[in-house]
Amino acid sequence: MLSSNSSIAVLIVDGQHLFAPNTEAWRRLESGEELDAYKLFEPARGASEREFANRHADLNLVIEKSFSSWLRLVLVDLGGNFQRVHLEYLTCDGCGWKGWSGNPWVPDLYVGSPEMDQALQRAYDLELLDCPRCGEKLPRASIWTEPLSKTE
Ligand SMILES: [Zn+2]
Repeated sequence: MLSSNSSIAVLIVDGQHLFAPNTEAWRRLESGEELDAYKLFEPARGASEREFANRHADLNLVIEKSFSSWLRLVLVDLGGNFQRVHLEYLTCDGCGWKGWSGNPWVPDLYVGSPEMDQALQRAYDLELLDCPRCGEKLPRASIWTEPLSKTE
């Protein structure tokens, strides 16, 4: 049972159980081991996403059970509230800033949640971020951007 597995924390987000493996459990998944009879989707994609999330205290990489495998999902910690995001590499039209951004408006993020429609609606109501350098509106919805120190 996953709920009694001490190497994997359970989070409930948008009414859905999501799982946060510890480093050792991630390594096992990335090497192709099964967890609860499912394998990680594209295990060979390796640790790059995990390392990216680890470098940012407000990001969490978790997994969700999909039809035939475990899918990775990035959550932004909004002061104790976890929000799903799709990470995108953006360029600001105003100043040319380039960096990673978290977009909560991608409907696919919410597939699997019993509150899919409500969760997407909550995402549309979130306050969006502007360019961290010049303050212009970013080309895509963003609730998280890489700190300037990491992108300049
Ligand atoms: Zn800008």
